[in-house]
Amino acid sequence: MTVRADSVTEAPVNFYRPDYHIQTPDMRSPEYVQLSTAAAITLGLVPGSMHRTACTHCLNLLVTYPEGCRANCSYCGLARHREESRDYADRNFIRVDWPTVGYEDVIARVRNGDDRGQFERMCISMITHPNSDHDTFVLLRKWVDQVAHIPVSILSNPTTLNRDDILRLRDEGADIFTVAVDAVTPEIFERTRGKTVDSPHTWKKYWQAIEWAAEIFGPEKFGAHLICGMGETEREMLDIAQRIRDLGGHNHMFAFFPEQGSMMEDWNPVSRDQWRRVQLARFIIDYAGGRIDEMRFDDAGRVVDFGLDRSELESLIASGKPFQTSGCPGKSDEEVSACNRPYGDSSPADILSFPFVLNASDVGFVRRQMAGEDVGTLDHEDLD
Ligand code: SF4
Repeated sequence: MTVRADSVTEAPVNFYRPDYHIQTPDMRSPEYVQLSTAAAITLGLVPGSMHRTACTHCLNLLVTYPEGCRANCSYCGLARHREESRDYADRNFIRVDWPTVGYEDVIARVRNGDDRGQFERMCISMITHPNSDHDTFVLLRKWVDQVAHIPVSILSNPTTLNRDDILRLRDEGADIFTVAVDAVTPEIFERTRGKTVDSPHTWKKYWQAIEWAAEIFGPEKFGAHLICGMGETEREMLDIAQRIRDLGGHNHMFAFFPEQGSMMEDWNPVSRDQWRRVQLARFIIDYAGGRIDEMRFDDAGRVVDFGLDRSELESLIASGKPFQTSGCPGKSDEEVSACNRPYGDSSPADILSFPFVLNASDVGFVRRQMAGEDVGTLDHEDLD
């Protein structure tokens, strides 16, 4: 593996700003990683509890560098433009804080059983940085050598990866490869992740990575992250979900949440009815054997018929599964994500991706949202 800093420096980004004062200069991968607050709580690294869920089943790790991600995606809390305002290690990402810890310490704690057997998957999230490819391999190799019983997913950075890298990730033990496409049309992608915002990503390279992943990792072993509510129609979102499914992959949905400090912090979150319909239709495409060409849409691209008979649709909704967080699977149920990302796209008072099994009251709440009712918050208004 060579670190192709050249392939990144060609992009229109500055790697280092001499005037930017970094407060945590020594905390960098591969010696250090950031982990999600939920993973840190599950591992007993930080005190705390999560609303209606005791733990996460995925140890989400993020490579970390004091100079941060060199891309500038407009919806992201880690984007480069924030370097003026906050030290990188302090920035929020998908709503939550990501504490920085030594990687050896994380491995030792998992080997020691500090997660009480809860972790069913580990995920390494790459960022756009000249060392990110190299360090991802180092982290993967160490994990496979020392914690063989927990499979690894890679949340990739296609901008710096080539086909041989993806092949090597598989050969070195990665189980699932995912691509955060996030924006689901070429226009929205360019506006939020491309040259328009001085960011290096291209739609073409992201789709090339997906095709390589489909070929190299194979069916059920790759996926795409998609963000709902950045200006696309429901039909456009589901077209992409179907495309991923037809290639053999699965779709990991995120509701757009205006991340504090991002360039889109003033945008509205996705409307609840749109989000619920997209969640349901995505589940039908991914797991219930349905297809977008069996669904019907209105002139605004909203789903008006999910293409299932009434009783089938009712039982699917009543199961609550379509409204749980979608992501890479754990050990028990391939339709339910080990990666439940508690409150990564909403507050506990108004849950968009449920990190736990829904009860009848939750399903009723979701049904009313899908029907376009203003139902307020789920229960405790003081939750955040
Ligand atoms: S590449 Fe990923 S981490 Fe970096 S700004 Fe874009 S979305 Fe955020």
